[in-house]
Amino acid sequence: MIVAGIDIGSRASKAVVMDDGTIISSVICDTGPESVKTSQMTMAKALEGTGLSLDDVQYVVATGYGRVLVPFASENISEISCHARGITWYFPSVRTILDMGGQDCKAINCDGDGRVINFIMNDKCAGGTGRFLEMIAEVLNIPLAEIGDAALNSSQPIPFNTICAVFAKSEAIGYLRRGVSKNDILAGLNEAIATRCLNLLKRVSIEKDFTITGGIAKNKGMVAKLREKVGLEPLLCEDPQIVGALGAALFARDRCRGIGTKDESRIHYGYSDGTGNYFITIDTGQCDGCGRCVPVCPSGIFEVAAGGDGQPKARVKDEARKKLALLCPGFYACNRCLEANCQRVCPKDAISHTW
Ligand code: SF4
Ligand code: SF4
Repeated sequence: MIVAGIDIGSRASKAVVMDDGTIISSVICDTGPESVKTSQMTMAKALEGTGLSLDDVQYVVATGYGRVLVPFASENISEISCHARGITWYFPSVRTILDMGGQDCKAINCDGDGRVINFIMNDKCAGGTGRFLEMIAEVLNIPLAEIGDAALNSSQPIPFNTICAVFAKSEAIGYLRRGVSKNDILAGLNEAIATRCLNLLKRVSIEKDFTITGGIAKNKGMVAKLREKVGLEPLLCEDPQIVGALGAALFARDRCRGIGTKDESRIHYGYSDGTGNYFITIDTGQCDGCGRCVPVCPSGIFEVAAGGDGQPKARVKDEARKKLALLCPGFYACNRCLEANCQRVCPKDAISHTW
């Protein structure tokens, strides 16, 4: 049974091809400006040398920011679910995940079957993300792959007042001009980022066993600092950057076996910031695409489109996802001023809000 998972992230796109329970190929490519082309190129690379074509792949699950733009995907599933699923394939004992991606960080609690129990996401600020580290590597003129080792060679980390991408860049340039060593600057930034990650993790629950996924988990300096801050030895898999794509491939394998639980069909849209958690969850297993939620929303947040199985499903419009708190006063506030709102009109009880 040949299946595949593809993770279209903001900076890198990953694909994993599996033959039953074995990974037969995995690739990591840069994400280009067009998600459709990126997905096609990434999958073509993953199939290179396997003797397989896309027609041989029975089921493809897409995840990541660009998951809705993968034309050959049979289904798309949130990266939060896919990271939890993927990492428990390596380490069934993992209960706490820190996913450090290209433009956001997520703290996730999961159970032994890789089901998400709780999560929190910070995608409002670039500080501490892959993009942020790329920017700092450019400023310091050090190859990105070397910044982890460089930080480990620091003798005196420099304290940073902020990891706001704009101010931290200015601070780093200022230190550089004053002759501070690059190693000490990087170690100071790692310290600040690790503190911030610890605060994110505290908002879920820090349990043994703990892991780090995403591209930043390859940065040895950052891992060392997180180990120190969190006080736990992280379990690190062979390639933490492909965990989301692996989880997607495992969901694809489930689908071929006729497995699909209600939890796995819940899609979360939104973000967390300092003021709260703004997620609208749509249970696509329940939603029958009746469309009643679309006209009642005064902010036009919803639309109905073909889901992974080709059936009509409600979803949150792309342009609304990053400003849900601005567009939606929250279910209870909306309930007071409207006779009908999305949750009240939904005959399937498929919509829920966190605020
Ligand atoms: S609670 Fe009101 S504003 Fe918010 S999504 Fe539902 S209908 Fe739209
Ligand atoms: S009202 Fe409920 S069942 Fe109908 S499209 Fe919206 S979410 Fe789906």
